[in-house]
Amino acid sequence: MSNLFYQAQGRRPVLEQARGVYMWDKDGKRYLDGSSGAMVCNIGHSNPEVLTAMRRQMEKSTFGYRLHFETEASERLAQKLAGLMPGDLNRVFFVSGGSEAVESATKLARQYALASEQGSRWKVISRAPSYHGCTLGALALTGYTPLTAPFAPMMQDMPKIPAPRAYLDGLDADDPATGHYYADMLEAKILAEGPESVLAFIVEPVGGASTGALVPPNGYMERIREICTRYGVLLIMDEVMTGAGRTGSFLGSDHWQAQPDIVVMSKGLGAGYMPLGAVIADERLVVPILAQGGFAHGFTYAGNPLACAAGLAVVNTLEMNGLCDNAAKMGETLLARLNGLMQKHELIGDVRGKGLLTAFEFMADRDSKAPLPARLNAHQRFVDLAYAKGLIIYSRRTRDGTEGDHILVCPPLIVNAEHIDEIIEGLDASLV
Ligand code: PMP
Repeated sequence: MSNLFYQAQGRRPVLEQARGVYMWDKDGKRYLDGSSGAMVCNIGHSNPEVLTAMRRQMEKSTFGYRLHFETEASERLAQKLAGLMPGDLNRVFFVSGGSEAVESATKLARQYALASEQGSRWKVISRAPSYHGCTLGALALTGYTPLTAPFAPMMQDMPKIPAPRAYLDGLDADDPATGHYYADMLEAKILAEGPESVLAFIVEPVGGASTGALVPPNGYMERIREICTRYGVLLIMDEVMTGAGRTGSFLGSDHWQAQPDIVVMSKGLGAGYMPLGAVIADERLVVPILAQGGFAHGFTYAGNPLACAAGLAVVNTLEMNGLCDNAAKMGETLLARLNGLMQKHELIGDVRGKGLLTAFEFMADRDSKAPLPARLNAHQRFVDLAYAKGLIIYSRRTRDGTEGDHILVCPPLIVNAEHIDEIIEGLDASLV
């Protein structure tokens, strides 16, 4: 096999075509895409309106280098996104993926600090576990040992605080005291590092790949916002997975009174049609940067007109078809059905999620929360069983990345009740 990409997984079937929530391989076998790829294909596969918008753009131009041309496609998408953001988050910088977006947000925050006489601030606090991307800078913010350890000590060791896993600590996630308890760890970390050295805090509003749909306890996000404001620390919301409707609102952070200073988006924005990411920053951060001649950063493919035309059609499709609302509604159904599976199967120790970002976690013992022995490799075996039955799902290790198995169930936001039935049947049949 010459494609290095595929070697980790071994052989997989060859993809032939994909429509809506289904995908077919070369042998004609059908799969229900229960993870939207990797939480990417939010509006489903081969959406005709998006394909038409892309075709139209292709007839006009597929590339215009950002230092040579502005494009109508990138301007229209930037305006559209700005209109969907809270407060004054109205300056958009396009990239081609999630890691690029995280890197760009970090550099933008740093340039803002330098341009506004806060040059001592450079540390970005994040959480463990967390996932923010695979490039070296984004990896430095990632708290997930199996992905960071193989490259250590290549990255700066950025400070981390624990993710708020109330279910493991035996705390009540509905009680705001729990949210405050975890959020106050950020304040303690800022004080320990020295507030004048801390640039930003980066957080996934609902934890994704590393924690398995971890919904923050009540009171957490609001308290995080207060602490960041108190110490002049920028709040970066990593909405790469949660953005574009996944959790039942356009941004995952829309569920809380915790307005970010910078939002990063990717996955569901290009929705599998084109590689696309965006950094959306508060106006006040951009003003001093522009006064210094602009953001000293950029990728060759940034703002690609074809990607932006696809992104605009994706966002319009989300809106016109009420897909955020559908994600909220179907997410409730899915969560209830997953809880039903937990009643039936001892092996499931926890079910969680928001909108259509849902997950369950395998445990050896529900009371003690003990994980299954890592050598069983339960999550990968389960994914393979489901795969054989025609259901695609996404799994990872939960605890520190070396043990604990969680399965993310995140179908496209176009799912209906029958699709949910089919997903539950596939999961049930794979829990043998
Ligand atoms: N941030 C989050 C929250 C993610 O889930 C991901 C991808 N799983 C990334 C960043 C990195 O995105 P990409 O793989 O497109 O670089």
